[in-house]
Amino acid sequence: MSFRIQDCLAKATGRAKSDVANKLISMLLHEASRKVCNHYGVSVGDARYGDSVHATFANECCYCAQMLESDRAVVEHPEGMNRFRAGLHIPGNALISCKKCNNEKRRDDQKPSLTLATTGWESFLSHDSQRCPPDCKSCLYWSSKIPNLTNRVDHLRHAAHRIAEFQFGYADFVKAGQELRPVILSRLNSLYRECQEFATSKILESTESIFEKFDWGANS
Ligand SMILES: [Zn+2]
Ligand SMILES: [Zn+2]
Repeated sequence: MSFRIQDCLAKATGRAKSDVANKLISMLLHEASRKVCNHYGVSVGDARYGDSVHATFANECCYCAQMLESDRAVVEHPEGMNRFRAGLHIPGNALISCKKCNNEKRRDDQKPSLTLATTGWESFLSHDSQRCPPDCKSCLYWSSKIPNLTNRVDHLRHAAHRIAEFQFGYADFVKAGQELRPVILSRLNSLYRECQEFATSKILESTESIFEKFDWGANS
């Protein structure tokens, strides 16, 4: 699909509204994560958790395995912390990736439903150019990183295996995340809708109060 400046400009207002709703969703997910961490007595910020991430991944991006640098490394949630994936900030679901992979993975994370796998991270690591249309951007990303198909398939399989093994050490957390997921998803959907409704009515009300002193007419 070709790029249209007009489409891009027209989306700004709608995006402002969903940014607010997404922020609230992130806050709810962090609060739920805090509960889970308190329950199990380990949190992502604990030194022992950081040590265990390092023991498995060294200083490599959990997806592309390139060496991390402080200005290009970000906290990565294999199961994304958004309204579609409902991932939590808990041990097992908080790793480190390079900014590029984190950004590329968003395409899978933001799909309401996945086709290649059941989780966001497994989906991202399934783009081996064998199951998607030729213009799939995630497949193109991986083929630009690892041009040889056999090496690419091996790399993706190895990366997925490494994450799965790491998560195995935090099986309680993974299980809790899976059990909570349907309940959280339904709550996130209502929160997203309520937040958008609130933002719309409140912003209209405030805008009207700004302009009521100006005689511009009610419909301008
Ligand atoms: Zn990476
Ligand atoms: Zn693909």
